[in-house]
Amino acid sequence: MANPASVLVVEDEAALAELLKYNLEKEGYEVRVAMDGEEALVVAKERAPDLVLLDWMLPKASGVEVCRRLRARQETRNTPIVMLTARGEESDRVRGLDIGADDYVTKPFSMTELLARLRAVMRRIRPALAEDKICVGDIVIDRAAHRVRRGDREVHLGPTEFRILDHLMQHPSRVFSREQLLDAVWGSDVYVEARTVDVHIGRLRKALMVGAETDPIRTVRSAGYSLDLENADAA
Ligand code: CA
Repeated sequence: MANPASVLVVEDEAALAELLKYNLEKEGYEVRVAMDGEEALVVAKERAPDLVLLDWMLPKASGVEVCRRLRARQETRNTPIVMLTARGEESDRVRGLDIGADDYVTKPFSMTELLARLRAVMRRIRPALAEDKICVGDIVIDRAAHRVRRGDREVHLGPTEFRILDHLMQHPSRVFSREQLLDAVWGSDVYVEARTVDVHIGRLRKALMVGAETDPIRTVRSAGYSLDLENADAA
């Protein structure tokens, strides 16, 4: 039921990009491919990936430049980035330089090893992606059993509200625009009006707030929504 983690593969060698896409999809990731540095920045802007696999030597903007610019953006500041480098040439520099990457893999690499490294990075940085149960504040979502609890009580949600909550709980405090929520919950190939999101957020809020319970969902004017239990508690 969990949304697949999305990986942005940035690789200018078409055959390698294809091979990576094939293997990552087989692992259950949702994969987008960019063939040069500028395209990578555009694709990441459209929708922030959960992880970036980034080649060092790229046309238009180098891997290091892409890494630096992704880090400068709010929405990809903490996104795990794994660099792919050619043996000998740049791996020492990657090792020695603080370029903001989380890990690096030297080409040629074994696909099994690369996938294991990506799983490790995912687990370390976003444990929620690998787990069936996520807790944020007093809210617990059990994705395997498809159940939600707040404190001692069970929360009954429709399937769309469940998916919205699941997505928000994977990234607590992160603000999602209506368009980003539409992509994540309904899929980018489905046409749904942005205000439909507001309707479902309204239902989700109503189900999550009973009696004196705080509102766990923060509305950020003209930006979108986030799950923010700390702020709710402080308010
Ligand atoms: Ca390259």
